[in-house]
Amino acid sequence: MEIIKGYQGFRGVLGHEFVGVVESAADEASILLGKRVVGEINIGCGECEYCRAGLGNHCPRRTVLGIVERDGAMAEYLTLPVGNLHEVPDEVSDEEAVFTEPLAAAFEITEQVAVSSNHSVLVMGDGKLGILSALVLGLTGADVTLMGKHENKLHVAAAQGVKTVLLGEMGEEETYDIVVEATGSAGGFETALSLVRPRGTVVLKSTVAESREMNLAPIVINEITVIGSRCGPFDTALQALAEKKIDVTPLVTETFPVRDAERAFELARKKGSLKVLIDFR
Ligand SMILES: [Zn+2]
Repeated sequence: MEIIKGYQGFRGVLGHEFVGVVESAADEASILLGKRVVGEINIGCGECEYCRAGLGNHCPRRTVLGIVERDGAMAEYLTLPVGNLHEVPDEVSDEEAVFTEPLAAAFEITEQVAVSSNHSVLVMGDGKLGILSALVLGLTGADVTLMGKHENKLHVAAAQGVKTVLLGEMGEEETYDIVVEATGSAGGFETALSLVRPRGTVVLKSTVAESREMNLAPIVINEITVIGSRCGPFDTALQALAEKKIDVTPLVTETFPVRDAERAFELARKKGSLKVLIDFR
């Protein structure tokens, strides 16, 4: 939705969360031929200092599947380097595997911040990434609360043991050690700063096309650590799915055949929708 609004100025085939089967590989002996795979979406140049340090996700010349100069997954075929692919374990269904990319993004939070059972955590935003982040953070034993606007979406997380609260129904003085901003709205950051304790951490997960002015003084006054957080570890996400640590299937709102892709977008735009799938099978 944000890409259609202009995020990254992308033109081309959309789609960066997918599961598929390897139909051909440059190396015809590739062990991945015929295998069910998911794929990491950043493709570094392989030569710069970031790529050589294993940080291809931050290569300044990278392409990104369906987002930056590379056609995405809403097509019958797509190409990715073999190194980007991860075989999907048999225990993980197609419908679950499609969540590997956003689930990996949720696990990135725990790669960047040492979250433990001593922490109180607030996740802002009951969209797909907010729910997945709350479920992943719940695995750490931390005291996690998910805040959102939609009872039906909050229920998906509540059913898996996460505390939930409707926006506007929080205690006046309530603050948290860690606040994860996943509202997808430009105003979320400012709200996050008002909900984090002094010396606490704000993790920003929203990639919003819109920008706005804001007052940064609370960061200084309360000595807040602000962390930007994007793509994460696919292996960890696939393992969590295989071990059924997180149930992503309640997040699927509906699945459409590709000929109804426009209807899929209409539904995805509606309040209450979480993940809408397009099926090419
Ligand atoms: Zn590079």
